[in-house]
Amino acid sequence: DSHMGITVALLERGSLLQVTGMAVVDMDTERASALWPGALRTVTLTVTQVNQLADNALPIRWGVPASARARDLKVVAKVPESAVVTSFYLEPTDEEDVWDFEAGNHLPIRLVTTAGDLQRTYSLSVAPSASNAAGNRYYRISVKREPEGKASSFLHDQIQVGNIIQARKPAGDFVLQERKDSSRTIVLLSTGVGVTPVLSMLQHLVQLSASDKDGNSRKIVWLHGARDGTLHAFREEIDELVKQSPSVVKHVVYSLPREQDRGLYDSKGRINAQLVQKLVPDLENADYYMCGPGAFMASLEDGLERLGVDSNYIHYETF
Ligand SMILES: Cc1cc2nc3c(=O)[nH]c(=O)nc-3n(C[C@H](O)[C@H](O)[C@H](O)COP(=O)(O)OP(=O)(O)OC[C@H]3O[C@@H](n4cnc5c(N)ncnc54)[C@H](O)[C@@H]3O)c2cc1C
Repeated sequence: DSHMGITVALLERGSLLQVTGMAVVDMDTERASALWPGALRTVTLTVTQVNQLADNALPIRWGVPASARARDLKVVAKVPESAVVTSFYLEPTDEEDVWDFEAGNHLPIRLVTTAGDLQRTYSLSVAPSASNAAGNRYYRISVKREPEGKASSFLHDQIQVGNIIQARKPAGDFVLQERKDSSRTIVLLSTGVGVTPVLSMLQHLVQLSASDKDGNSRKIVWLHGARDGTLHAFREEIDELVKQSPSVVKHVVYSLPREQDRGLYDSKGRINAQLVQKLVPDLENADYYMCGPGAFMASLEDGLERLGVDSNYIHYETF
């Protein structure tokens, strides 16, 4: 009996397609493989009937979650932030708003290159509510050029304003924790490109404190380390933010400052628990959010715990 049928269910829409007809099976492996590499047989179906059930006809439904779906984002601006970090401002190509995200989340992206697709993730470096002149929200990622790094070099060298990047929904659990006790200080610690997720948090917190009419805003301590002025990303943007908010205390540390960096940093050396203690006298009454190289975070976490900070209040992101 050479009757044959194929049933295709579109489970996202709940529709169904049935195709029936007469089939001829060709057992010749070489002919099959020539048509479709790796195929062993060819089935030729002469369609005699097509049945189609409309959308929503099926009682069951499932699909790819929105978070797994890729979306096109257009690069609307490309801005150098330091000698090695460049920001990419991204907006949707459709009429839809950007997906919501929380300060500290990262954006999984896919880059289509001649050498194949590259999938990487980059922390969003703006507040979730950041919007352009037209009032539309956008994303910003800020990428450090890594020596021989495939995706970061491609972004720096090839991606220009107007190009499309594919992205999935922002994700991550490095986010500001809800605390009932608003007297707890928030300490944002970063070095190098680790600044990106904590900058999103800083922007968000400054906005919150600006909208807090009772003046109950929490104290925020911003501690950032860079080698020197050439590698100090977002300096002016952060200075501007700090000016807007009396609740922010800022301290910048350069490890190898140049003569001309005078005035751009507050101390020379590296961020350590003793420095944090000077800026946050009540160490135990604070939440710590840190991002930077593994060694920086490990030694800082260790130092803070030795000074009595409960590890439950130390949150970090690793790149
Ligand atoms: C949650 C999260 C958030 C992140 N956020 C950011 C962010 O905000 N900004 C940011 O810049 N990055 C961020 N990253 C890192 C980012 O995802 C990439 O890992 C980074 O850009 C390197 O990717 P790449 O393709 O350029 O490097 P790859 O090609 O994947 O190489 C990986 C590393 O190996 C080194 N390497 C490669 N080839 C050689 C070689 N031949 N010799 C010596 N070294 C070599 C590269 O220098 C690089 O450091 C984040 C990562 C995570 C997980």
